Amino acid sequence: MKPCYCGSSQLFEDCCNLYLNGTQSAPTAEALMRSRYTAFATGAVDYLINTTHFSKRKFHKKSEILAWSKSNQWLRLEILAVSKTTVTFNAYYINENLKAQIHYEHSTFTLENGKWYYLDGTY
Ligand SMILES: [Zn+2]
Repeated sequence: MKPCYCGSSQLFEDCCNLYLNGTQSAPTAEALMRSRYTAFATGAVDYLINTTHFSKRKFHKKSEILAWSKSNQWLRLEILAVSKTTVTFNAYYINENLKAQIHYEHSTFTLENGKWYYLDGTY
C-alpha cells in the first residue's frame, strides 16, 4: 500500500488510481490535475492523452510525453491555487542530468459531457 503520488495523503489505490484505471472520472479540475501528475510519475501516457481536450491533442505527441515522463524522476506536487477551472502548481522533479527542477504551471481545464479535460497551461 503506497501513498498516492499526488500528495493527497490518501492511498494510491483510493486516489488517483481510480481515475487512471478508469473506475471513476476525476470529479473536479483539481482531481484531474492531481491524477495527471500521477500519470506523469507512473508513465501512464494514454491517460495523459485521453484527458487532454481533443482540440489540443495534436499538440501533444505520445512519444514526447512518454520521454518527458520517463526521463524525469517525479518527486512531489505542490498545489498553489485552485479555482473551478484552473489549477496553479509546482511539480518537483529531477531531470535526466540529475538536476533538481521545478515545473511551474497555471493550467486551464474544461468540463465537457461530464468529464474534465486539460485544455492548456502557461508556465
Ligand atoms: Zn492522488
